[in-house]
Amino acid sequence: MKDKSESHEGGCLCGAIRYTLHGEPTYSGHCHCRSCQKAIGAGFVTWAGIKPENFEMTQGEITICETSPGVRRGFCGRCGSSLTYAGDDWTDIAVTAATLDDPGVARPTSNVYLDHQQSWVIIDDGLRKYEKLP
Ligand SMILES: [Zn+2]
Ligand SMILES: [Zn+2]
Repeated sequence: MKDKSESHEGGCLCGAIRYTLHGEPTYSGHCHCRSCQKAIGAGFVTWAGIKPENFEMTQGEITICETSPGVRRGFCGRCGSSLTYAGDDWTDIAVTAATLDDPGVARPTSNVYLDHQQSWVIIDDGLRKYEKLP
């Protein structure tokens, strides 16, 4: 059932795609894995989790690419903004926290895949650390 508490909107850079998260993100964390680095084109990506029933597309259509077996990354086919991550063995959808209109609502609490961390990425030592997924 859809979470009726506060909702948070977001979207891609060009504005073609808009989405709404119903309720608060289930988690937020920086992923340093090589796949995310390649997919986003950055040193790491901050993901915010949401239950599928609380993720609503309100405008446009996300382009999905199966980047590895069972892993579907979603992006805007027009401007290329990375938007979502879904995996066969994942209960939640992950949304790129920075595409929220107010990324402040998805303050990260952890770092994962630190074994792939780039040496020039400086992380907050106060956050939980995981070499791989916890
Ligand atoms: Zn776009
Ligand atoms: Zn990753």
